[in-house]
Amino acid sequence: MFKLKTKILFGKGCLSKLDAIEGKKAVIFSSNSMEKYGFLDEVLEHIKMPYALIKNIKPEPDEKNIENYVKILDKENADIIIAIGGGSVIDTAKASLYHYKNAKLIAIPSTSGSGSEVTGASVLKNEYGIKYSIVADYLIPEYAFLDARLPEKMNSRLAANTGMDALTHAIEAYVSKFASPFSDAFAIMSAKKIFHNLYDSVKGNSSAREIMHYASCMAGIAILNARVGLCHAMSHKLGMSGLSHGLLNAILIDYVIEYNMKDEYARKRYDEIANELHLKNDELIEAIRELKKKIGIKKLEDYIREEEFNNMLEFISKEAALDNLMKFNPVKASKEEIKEIYEKAYYG
Ligand code: FE
Repeated sequence: MFKLKTKILFGKGCLSKLDAIEGKKAVIFSSNSMEKYGFLDEVLEHIKMPYALIKNIKPEPDEKNIENYVKILDKENADIIIAIGGGSVIDTAKASLYHYKNAKLIAIPSTSGSGSEVTGASVLKNEYGIKYSIVADYLIPEYAFLDARLPEKMNSRLAANTGMDALTHAIEAYVSKFASPFSDAFAIMSAKKIFHNLYDSVKGNSSAREIMHYASCMAGIAILNARVGLCHAMSHKLGMSGLSHGLLNAILIDYVIEYNMKDEYARKRYDEIANELHLKNDELIEAIRELKKKIGIKKLEDYIREEEFNNMLEFISKEAALDNLMKFNPVKASKEEIKEIYEKAYYG
């Protein structure tokens, strides 16, 4: 089966089409930056129903706040939830919807990476600071508005990190055990567009930003169906460090590919991606490392102190080996092997 539930509106200015959404009462989740740049006001201008606002949603959501948001949804008796902001804002709205259940979700992403605007997954931090996902079909947004004016406001670091998250989605979906010809189409096309536009997007090029915005959504469609694998299992656990999801995937992805390459099927699939990018077999890892260098992604050592890293290494290796996402990865990695991958990513 290949599914796609979300109706996708795209193009600069498409926010004005929010007036076609019907509902009785909306609750709107917004990030600070979307308020600051006036896009929240634009949403309010265009929606044709009463609303309540939850502003200032923070990045990398944890479980604690969700309870309060569910209370607000209950009190307002909302039938529409609008989330405008980065993946964290959309995931916070989804986690609230998970408990509340009775509303349609409209996602308006302001970054180009998570793909959350088309998937049923929400990633949250638990009490230990490690991440886990909840996944349900009713969390898949009804509408995604890809207004390319929004990601133009990202700083270059955010553009780099979120863009590498999207690239990781494309690659992991393509080598997933659940990949199909249909998810492949989205995975390959998004990988190509990201490879050819991420650097320019990081430099602030407006048309590259627009292409990245659509490509990250395409990668989202790929992972909605084929899911992600070892790199995400590892980055979710390393979320304990406080580093952002996109950055962690960016740091880890080439080491995960290197590890998965020992499997014949995985190697063939990576080579197919390489060929689509006009690279030769076995050149994918090098190409990713070059891209990482160009956009300023360093090795783990440059972001986490050695003592802190060593203190968490056993725990996160064990947790990653047990992660649900491992079942989509082409190779089953043991705790010891995962520990080695973390170490390679740390020391380079
Ligand atoms: Fe991701």
